Amino acid sequence: MHGTRLAEEIVAHSAQRAAEFSARFGVKPCLATVIVGDDPASVTYVKMKQNRCHKTGIDSRHVSLLAATTTEVVRAITTLSDDSTVHGILLQHPSPPQIDEPAAFEAIVPEKDVDGVTPHSFAAMAFGRPGFVSCTPGGIIRLLDAYGVDPSGRHAVVIGRSPILGKPVGMLLLGRDATVTYCHSKTQDLPSIVQSADIVVAAVGRPEFVKGAWLKPGVVVIDAGYNAGNVGDVAFDEAAERASLITPVPGGVGPMTLALLMEQTVDAAFQQATVS
Ligand code: NAP
Repeated sequence: MHGTRLAEEIVAHSAQRAAEFSARFGVKPCLATVIVGDDPASVTYVKMKQNRCHKTGIDSRHVSLLAATTTEVVRAITTLSDDSTVHGILLQHPSPPQIDEPAAFEAIVPEKDVDGVTPHSFAAMAFGRPGFVSCTPGGIIRLLDAYGVDPSGRHAVVIGRSPILGKPVGMLLLGRDATVTYCHSKTQDLPSIVQSADIVVAAVGRPEFVKGAWLKPGVVVIDAGYNAGNVGDVAFDEAAERASLITPVPGGVGPMTLALLMEQTVDAAFQQATVS
């Protein structure tokens, strides 16, 4: 399942809508990125997001906080939340250990939570109410839709339960009437649970963790993992022999995350401009 082409379509449509927004309101949609610390991977991810904004016709603003406290991060995010020229806010995850990340996320007002990380967004998603979804889970559902995979009645096994990925993707699959099993580091006999899955989502953060021998023939495999050296969480070659559909790494889930971020930033800009 190739995310690159689908992501390009979503970005092209977002660019068209961003241009419409600019023509109508005289400013571009604007995404503010916040980074705490100087982790090289996080710096690279933020640069990728800024580049994608530029290509989509979205302004990007950047706040870099080096040795900040939670109070300082909350203050910086609150300033962006109150700034009417900023339409979307993204706090790059993970924050350094001294930061209370949930408290920092909560400083993002729901209407600017284009990365779908606040409790408000999670609750809206869980209740099936309008709101912004977490971008990677949202991107995974769009991929399934594009490839005609209907989760209804199927057994989806999600490996990983992080608040930004595992948990929300399971909730979205449940919302599509899948029977969802969450697995995590305390799960006993993971291979036998995975064996009964019609859809597997790997969100573990361990290279080639899911083995081909664990998979039922015909399974749909979503590899959300991204590890050093462009390696996913699934042993791709052996899994591809059993799967009916599988996402590659790179070029599967990753580009969809960025595309959803662009789409939701433009949505946020329209929503804020039309209610103010
Ligand atoms: P995370 O917060 O570290 O969560 C990892 C999850 O895996 C945890 O729930 C953990 O269980 C579980 N786990 C760890 N060891 C396990 C084991 N032996 N068996 C079963 N479960 C195990 O990671 P994350 O932020 O969700 O990210 C997961 C992966 O997705 C990473 O490779 C990350 O780079 C990638 N990712 C990709 C994108 C993208 O755009 N493509 C976006 C976000 C993340 P516990 O809860 O019990 O600790």
